[in-house]
Amino acid sequence: MDPKTVEQSHRPELDISRIAPDSGQVRLLRRISNAREPGFVVVIQRSVLQAVHAHGESDTSVEICGVLVGNVYHDRISPYLLIEAHIPGDKATSQQTQVTFTAETWDSIQKEMEQKYPDKKIVGWYHTHPGFGVFLSGMDLFIQDNFFNLPWQVAWVYDPIARIDGVFVWHEGKSEKQDFLIEEDLGEWGYDFRAKLPDDQRPTTVETRRDKRMRSFRWITGVVLAFMICFLGVWFLLRYLSEIGFRVRLPIE
Ligand SMILES: [Zn+2]
Repeated sequence: MDPKTVEQSHRPELDISRIAPDSGQVRLLRRISNAREPGFVVVIQRSVLQAVHAHGESDTSVEICGVLVGNVYHDRISPYLLIEAHIPGDKATSQQTQVTFTAETWDSIQKEMEQKYPDKKIVGWYHTHPGFGVFLSGMDLFIQDNFFNLPWQVAWVYDPIARIDGVFVWHEGKSEKQDFLIEEDLGEWGYDFRAKLPDDQRPTTVETRRDKRMRSFRWITGVVLAFMICFLGVWFLLRYLSEIGFRVRLPIE
């Protein structure tokens, strides 16, 4: 069978709109990158996105793949998929071939899931298209259809040369690209760790960058004012001294 001719199965039940609003646990979704549309949304944690990018950029001569790990949660707006980890898979054997998941790769992925992520699920897969853009090929659709065919399972494509991402979700049995959100990482205790760190160890945020700019602005203004006051002080002193009879030649007059 030529994978290029593969058509997706068009099972209408494969649709993100079928995901129940109260799926998974309640979890607040905060610190996200963009405005949120109503309805099921895909969210990836910043550190996971960076790790997937690093894996994809480790070899841009061939396609690289792996699986995405996480859970479905919901809040008062909608259910959402949170990608919380990744497990690296294989590289394609050559530039001419596409990535696939071999039986051995699946075995090792399953083992890692049991050991490291017993409370999480395989929520999709990722692979790279070095230099040829974000889309799903016939082989990619075949993989999505056969291995990631639950309504909330996604396909993530990353072009490590153009540095563009795309995530594909199920719409009436077809994989369609949808915008995703990035969640900034929380600390290991699950709350905002910045509040606990001393000033010099806090990650830079928009606010502290602005503070830094304000600090340097105040500092420069202070130095300029101090210099002017000193200069005027010396000038008036010299003027006074010359007036009361000291023979001082003023540098400016
Ligand atoms: Zn592909």
